[in-house]
Amino acid sequence: MLEPSTPVQYVKGIGPRLAEVLAAKGLATVDDLLHYLPFRYEDRLNPRSVAELRAGEMATVIAEVRNSGLFRTRRMPIFQLTVGQGRSKLKCLWFNAAYLQDRFQPGQMLALYGKVEADRDGGLQIIQPQVEILGDINEEGGADEAEKKAAASLEIGRIVPIYESTGKLTPRWFRRIIRWTLENLGPDLPDPIPAAVRAHLSLASPREALWKVHWPDAGESFADLQSSRTAAHIRLIFDELFFIELGLELKRREQKAQTGIAFQLTDAVRAAIKKILPFHPTAAQKRVLKEIATDMQLPSPMRRLLQGDVGSGKTIVAFQAAIIAIENGYQVALMAPTEILAQQHYFSARQILERAGYRIVLLTGSLEAGRKRDVRRHIAQGNAQLVVGTHALIQDRVEFENLGLVVVDEQHRFGVLQRLKLMKKSDESAKTAEPDVLVMTATPIPRTLALTLYGDLDVSVLDELPPGRTPVVTRSVPDERAPEVWDFVRKQISAGHQAYVVYPLIEENPKTTEERELKAAQQMHRQLREKIFPNLHVGLLHGRLDADEKEHVMREFQQGKIEILVATTVIEVGVDVPNATIMVIEHADRFGLAQLHQLRGRIGRGAAKSYCVLMHGGKVSEEGERRLNAMVQSNDGFQIAELDLELRGPGEFFGTKQAGIPSFRVANIIRDRQLLEAAKREAAFVISGPNAEISNDEIDRALREMRARWALSYGLVEVG
Ligand code: ADP
Ligand code: MG
Repeated sequence: MLEPSTPVQYVKGIGPRLAEVLAAKGLATVDDLLHYLPFRYEDRLNPRSVAELRAGEMATVIAEVRNSGLFRTRRMPIFQLTVGQGRSKLKCLWFNAAYLQDRFQPGQMLALYGKVEADRDGGLQIIQPQVEILGDINEEGGADEAEKKAAASLEIGRIVPIYESTGKLTPRWFRRIIRWTLENLGPDLPDPIPAAVRAHLSLASPREALWKVHWPDAGESFADLQSSRTAAHIRLIFDELFFIELGLELKRREQKAQTGIAFQLTDAVRAAIKKILPFHPTAAQKRVLKEIATDMQLPSPMRRLLQGDVGSGKTIVAFQAAIIAIENGYQVALMAPTEILAQQHYFSARQILERAGYRIVLLTGSLEAGRKRDVRRHIAQGNAQLVVGTHALIQDRVEFENLGLVVVDEQHRFGVLQRLKLMKKSDESAKTAEPDVLVMTATPIPRTLALTLYGDLDVSVLDELPPGRTPVVTRSVPDERAPEVWDFVRKQISAGHQAYVVYPLIEENPKTTEERELKAAQQMHRQLREKIFPNLHVGLLHGRLDADEKEHVMREFQQGKIEILVATTVIEVGVDVPNATIMVIEHADRFGLAQLHQLRGRIGRGAAKSYCVLMHGGKVSEEGERRLNAMVQSNDGFQIAELDLELRGPGEFFGTKQAGIPSFRVANIIRDRQLLEAAKREAAFVISGPNAEISNDEIDRALREMRARWALSYGLVEVG
């Protein structure tokens, strides 16, 4: 008998070799396998008959092979297959598909799925349908007759699950394996969700849900199946979201229960906050500061997210919060995801805060050892009041004398899991009370996503840009028109402005990509400096420069000594040079939307009109085109984020792995918004128990399950 925790290797038909293939797909246990859901279903109970097909519909057709062959056109080989039922015929075409040549024999039964179209001769055709040869079982090892029959019965006369194939493992291989797994699942499958919660949502039992999600009843609504809205789907999706929310909710409660620092907001502190302001704060900045200040005055530790589009002015708010802590006699740590951003903050902190008499240090990984030691000493002795650094700051167990506030900037670069770790570290460095934590992000996160990623935080939103900004004018321009673009850059510079030329990160392979990007930036830097702008100062900034060099380049750009800065995506976050009014992004079509938006956020920071030019050469993919259009049409980070989420899907939205965002097996936070809200609500209900509806035992069981899952999925992060 199989248990959910049994390794897949012990499932019949999976040996050590296939177990490895599955492991690479994240399928390590029986439980993983059972949560490998079909991405669609075929109605092979009522397949469409060929005679009644209509052009324009998506259809599943079961029919017999009549003939097939390859014919070559001037441009490519095309494989044509004709299937039939009685006198009706249907043509199927595959382009560039010489590999299909010997695949089909007349008389074979096929299940075909695709979009029906009218062909030129008044008949019907399907271009590149998905196809399965029914009753052919030769793909993985041999099978005896009885097995073939059993397998065949899984393929016709019912609603059939279609799994995404992986390498040589076909949808029907998964069908057989998962079916066998279900049949051999041990009798003991307790439901960790408390009865009251099950009742609130009328949830199916785990076993029933698992069976029916793979093998729906004949009467199941096809629309519900395709949209993952059957009772079985809902049970499994809710289940996954519920235990994530339960963890976040618990974390939130525990944080609230800890002793924090009740900062005093005296008139002297208020005056100090006002004094540093180089401009009038926006109404949004005032409101947000008030929310933060209120939190800071409470005896429980602050856990707040400050969300604001690029350029909305988060930095000054963070500085104001820092002053509250410093004036109360505490130290502040300001952490940035990159060294350049840390330097940038250090630079502005010195301009704004040092002038007011505060003591500031910079601590980054690449500081030379002796200097690092000095800086650490200043921090440990409490001389340094504001410590600006990369997250090495926390990882290296820097000793603070009395840390009162931690500000984490550009949170989206860290992700929820790293953040939980960072907070844990910051906990350790506190002697008695917990420091307050403010995390800031420029990624406008749709509400549902925020619920999952930041479920343990309170949220403040900066929804207003400082006055006098004009929206950045964005154009998408093919490479051939580069000379015009360079002319335009020249004009902007003679008008006293500055420019960025950016080479984006091409996402596939980080290592070689970085090299390629670097090479492109270096080459282009030379060309721009020597050939295109020989009379201007063209600087180069990339991740491989050491800290001093980076600082030097940034300072020169800030001071206007460098007029054109050629850069890789290292400038993506935080860099703030209001005089820069033009940004040329090369190969813009290869960037993600969020990244383009972040990059564009570097300009349009002053009163002068700014321009973003998205260059692209060669063929632009359809999706690339949509991204460019979105950028041209919108300056609104929220709109762009929604679209990005749609285009890329939640998993890739932030790059799950780097960002440490929980990845989902069955849930999709765009599609399942409502279930996510329900999960959050129910999690809060459970944590607030016990009561008449829910017993202590049930709560304990749910919490145990939650801890086990968090430990399993999110590694080192401990919750509760
Ligand atoms: P972000 O939210 O992207 O971190 P910054 O804090 O870097 O934005 O602010 C962007 C720019 O706007 C900076 O040059 C900053 O000095 C300026 N700024 C911020 N708040 C105001 C304000 N209320 N009035 C005028 N300029 C402001
Ligand atoms: Mg910023």
